[in-house]
Order: sequence, then C-alpha cells, then structure tokens
Amino acid sequence: MAKHIVCLTFDFDGISGFVARGSPSPSPVSRGEFGPRVAAPRLLALFKKYRIKTSWYVPGHTIESFPDAVKAVVDHGHEIGHHGWRHISPVAFSRAEEEEELIRGNESIKRISGEYARGYRSPGWDLSPHSVELFIKHGFTYDSSMMGDDYGMYFARQGDVLDLHKPAQFGETTSLVELPISWSTDDSPHFEYMRTGNALRPGLASAGDVLENWIADFDYMQKTTEWGVLTFTCHPFISGRGHRIMMLEKLIRHMKDKGAVFQRADQTVLEFRQRTSGNTAPKVRRNRGRAVQSGIVNRSIGSWPRFSRSMRHRVSAESNNIQPTEKKNDQKDCSWNGGRGGVGWRFGFGAMVRRW
Ligand SMILES: [Zn+2]
Repeated sequence: MAKHIVCLTFDFDGISGFVARGSPSPSPVSRGEFGPRVAAPRLLALFKKYRIKTSWYVPGHTIESFPDAVKAVVDHGHEIGHHGWRHISPVAFSRAEEEEELIRGNESIKRISGEYARGYRSPGWDLSPHSVELFIKHGFTYDSSMMGDDYGMYFARQGDVLDLHKPAQFGETTSLVELPISWSTDDSPHFEYMRTGNALRPGLASAGDVLENWIADFDYMQKTTEWGVLTFTCHPFISGRGHRIMMLEKLIRHMKDKGAVFQRADQTVLEFRQRTSGNTAPKVRRNRGRAVQSGIVNRSIGSWPRFSRSMRHRVSAESNNIQPTEKKNDQKDCSWNGGRGGVGWRFGFGAMVRRW
C-alpha cells in the first residue's frame, strides 16, 4: 500500500549557534532568543491544530537555558533528538571530546524528556570518522545529518578511506539508520540573512518561491515512489516569522490534502527497520584497526550477524513502544581505534561549511 511520509523537523538552536560562532552580543542573542520566546509556541499551536507530531533536535545549551520552552515541546508529544550540547560540529572534536559532548547532551535530554535521544543531527551537518561508531555505542538508532538519498532511508556506513589518487574504499554498513536531509529542504539557506567578515549569505527568499519548491518535492515523491519519506529541516527562529509560518501552514494543507502521513522521525525509523527486516544485513564493525602506508588507515572488517545484543534490545523496546533501558557501554567491540580517516574525507565539505 502506498505511503508518503513527511517528517517535519526543527533544529531548536536557541542562542547556542550565535554564541558558538563568537557572537554573544545582545543583538545576535536576541535573534536566537526569538525561537524559544516567540516562535516555538506558534509552531506548537500550528501542529496541534493539524494534529501533527514532529521531531526537534535540541542542543543541551538550549535545554538548560530555556527549559520551559523545551518542556512544552515534550509535553506536546514531539520527539527530542540530539543536536550537540554546545552546537559545535563533531568534526571539530577529538574522539574523546566528541563522546563527552554526546553524553552531556544526552543527559540534558534525559532530564527534560525522561528518556535518552534515539536520533542525532549534527550542528554542522557533518560527522567525524568516529561519529557513527559513537552513536551505536550510545544507543542511538538513527542519524539525520547526511544526504545520500531524498525519499529513501538507508543504513549508514563507516570507515570510508578516501584518497583522490585511488579509487574510493567504502567502509562497512552499520546498523545505524540514516534519515537523509538536504540543503534544499532546509529553511536556513533560503531565508536567513547572514554576514560574517567578508562573506554574505543574502537569504530572505520569497516564501512563495520556497513553497513552490517544497510542494514540488512532495509531489515528485508521490509520483515516483510507493513508500517514501520527505524530511524538512526548519529552525524556530527562522520559520516562526509571520510570512514563513503562513507558508508552512499552506505546505501542510497541500500535503495533507494529497494524503501525506506526518510522523516523528523516530517512528519513521522504526517503520523502516520493520520494512527492511529480513532483507538487509546491517553489520557492526569489530575492533580490528590496522594502519597502512601514507597514514591512511585500512580497517579489517569483522561482521556480526544482524544487530548486537544490546542493539537488538533497543529495537525491541522501540517496537513495543516502551522506554528503552539505560544504555550500557557493552558495545565496545563496535569501536575501532585505527586513528583518523583518509585526508580527503576529513577535509571535505565539513571544513568549508558552517551552518545555522
Ligand atoms: Zn542547529
């Protein structure tokens, strides 16, 4: 049976993004503060009107600075996902720093929502060579920071070795599900005016033009897929402005009229797992790192049948719609200690893109 899912997702940055970029002065801070103070309540009212559940990726900094605003999101039944603690891309961290940030953010999420996050979205839409392994170790079931599909989901890979002088060596597929995103379905590059140093991003696009694009993305999904997922990424401080929230309502109405099913990302990931159960064999890397010449690490692959024990438990807990148990670090074999990935990989678009 045909099903066309729409995941409306929000990166609830609050003021963390401005502070992280070195703009802690009153005006940029107030620009971010518009999100929790004004925009989030408007958005929650809109979703209540249409009985839509959504997913919000929230930095620990926002949770601890605006607890009432984030609690309101929880109380309305929306998902809380991980978005770092300080809103800094994991590419900037060592493995230990990245893990520390992951744990700190997750503890903030547990305090505000009563459970750890199932999903992660990178503040820079980029991941380090350690990210996928750390997500699995800490019980995440999905990531939403990559762009390898538009209406499909897939299992994330880790351990690619990329050297422009050689063919790519793709790493092993893992048990982590990827819910892909795209700059074209993100409100920030379309709308957000930004000037930093000599760089200027004009933003301020016509909401009608963006609506036309986004409707076309949905219509094409219906035309070309039997079962598809379209993910939009918005920011309360951007999409909560009058003409944009009106555009969002028009978008919702169009997609509802065409039969769209609006779902939280974690529920969509669970549905994907159930659909793919039995015809995929996601594998988790074992710890057998081995360095080779040129400083690039070639990691031998050891595969596990399906999921590890604790991963299986977590999926089972999701299936039964019960609260997952506390995560234990019993997946140490999932990690690899082989050092950093290939140079090309490390210094790809992650070094060039900073994101709102
Ligand atoms: Zn963000």
